[in-house]
Amino acid sequence: MGGGASRAKTSISVIAVDPRNTSRSCSACRHRAKVNRPTHEKFHCVACGHTAHTDTVAATNVLRAGLVRRNANPAPSPPPATCGWPSSGTDHGGPRNESAQHLLGAT
Ligand SMILES: [Zn+2]
Repeated sequence: MGGGASRAKTSISVIAVDPRNTSRSCSACRHRAKVNRPTHEKFHCVACGHTAHTDTVAATNVLRAGLVRRNANPAPSPPPATCGWPSSGTDHGGPRNESAQHLLGAT
């Protein structure tokens, strides 16, 4: 008889979701309107007639938004490897060398 505590590995990911319109958007048809929420607690979609408690609607919308966001950004991509700057061409400084030699010879 072993009473070992088995600990399931759970990974918790926190996703920031903008909660501003979650209680106004219909969780059934996604219609978003201020009139969908006649009272503080009641949600009644004017588009599809879906009714629910605003907390339920908001929670559903937050969950959906979080899942969409997680799918959009599965993992941060590593920065691209630094590729060297393209060399700015070989400098055939003909006249520049001549002038330099001229200056050197002048002294
Ligand atoms: Zn609706």
